[in-house]
Amino acid sequence: MGRAFNFSAGPAVMPEAVLQQAALEMLDWHGSGMSVMEMSHRGKEFIGIYEQTESDLRELLAVPSHFKILFMQGGGLAENAIVPLNLSQGGAMDFVITGSWSQKSLKEAEKYGQARVAATSQTDGFTSMPSPATWKIGADSRYVHICSNETIHGVEFHELPDLQALGCDAPLVVDFSSHVASRPVDWSRVGLAFGGAQKNLGPAGLTLVIVREDLIGHALPHCPSAFDYKLVADNQSMYNTPPTYSIYMAGLVFQWLKQRGGIAAMEQRNIAKAQFLYDFLDNSSLYVNHVAKDCRSRMNVPFFLRDESRNEAFLDGAKTANLLQLKGHKSVGGMRASIYNAMPLEGVQALVAYMREFEKTQA
Ligand SMILES: *Cc1c(COP(=O)(O)O)cnc(C)c1O
Repeated sequence: MGRAFNFSAGPAVMPEAVLQQAALEMLDWHGSGMSVMEMSHRGKEFIGIYEQTESDLRELLAVPSHFKILFMQGGGLAENAIVPLNLSQGGAMDFVITGSWSQKSLKEAEKYGQARVAATSQTDGFTSMPSPATWKIGADSRYVHICSNETIHGVEFHELPDLQALGCDAPLVVDFSSHVASRPVDWSRVGLAFGGAQKNLGPAGLTLVIVREDLIGHALPHCPSAFDYKLVADNQSMYNTPPTYSIYMAGLVFQWLKQRGGIAAMEQRNIAKAQFLYDFLDNSSLYVNHVAKDCRSRMNVPFFLRDESRNEAFLDGAKTANLLQLKGHKSVGGMRASIYNAMPLEGVQALVAYMREFEKTQA
């Protein structure tokens, strides 16, 4: 059947050119006589891959020099514990609840200190974004947590909040798992950002943490050593064995992004793809997206059939048309199209063409 258009929320579509390059290099990386996954993480071959990957990422995301880039493991969910272990100092933390992922972060942080809700959009089913001016942030806050793209509810911050303008000195912690590298980041507003790689950067197994230097070195005494940002940073992410193959694959993705014009160029493509799909949804009498227009995600587009009894038929037909993994998250239902960096415009066009045909058969 060949390669399909894959709309999975994660692990998700990879750039085909990257998969091909990895296949070519699988048995013998650059004449080393080894696959990357067989290399010592302390050998010069892998150190070279690591350093190139780090510097490409720093360049792509324009990460300032007073931020450390850490390559960790455990995924976004582990960071929900690792961040409070490193940043809370046992004090209070404030959370903005905009969907399932920020809810999970709050629940986990409750184990490590006083975790409070600064704002929530739960009452409207997470279809809007609470305006930063309404957030209740305590003066004693150790940090303020947001999820800048809610993968399940399809809600995205199109601008990071400026906490200082709100009179708050606490650092902003951002879970950017599902839209990292889809748009530039305003680092002047960020204390720490983390994300699992498997949405937009590469295969599962790698977790990216980008953290301001002054926030490192304050871990609670019971923080596991492998999760202490200071130990990880002081050892160039090699305090313990890092996810070497996932780092290599992310490195290939970073080179692919650079060849495609970098993050600003990707953002323009992502805007075009998302707009194409939302415009179609908004003009359809069969499909509907419920998220407020000013906070719709460019990466994850949940939508519903107004006649939900047609869901199975829709998904069966999509599969026949080589359009895969469109079923919505079980907590929300309906459908979801994840259209990350590696999803070409042609994939979104093919999806819309299929949806249009399916709609006609429902008349
Ligand atoms: C997928 C996801 C996570 C969880 O990542 P894991 O790697 O499964 O731990 C956390 N936050 C967001 C926003 C996600 O999309």
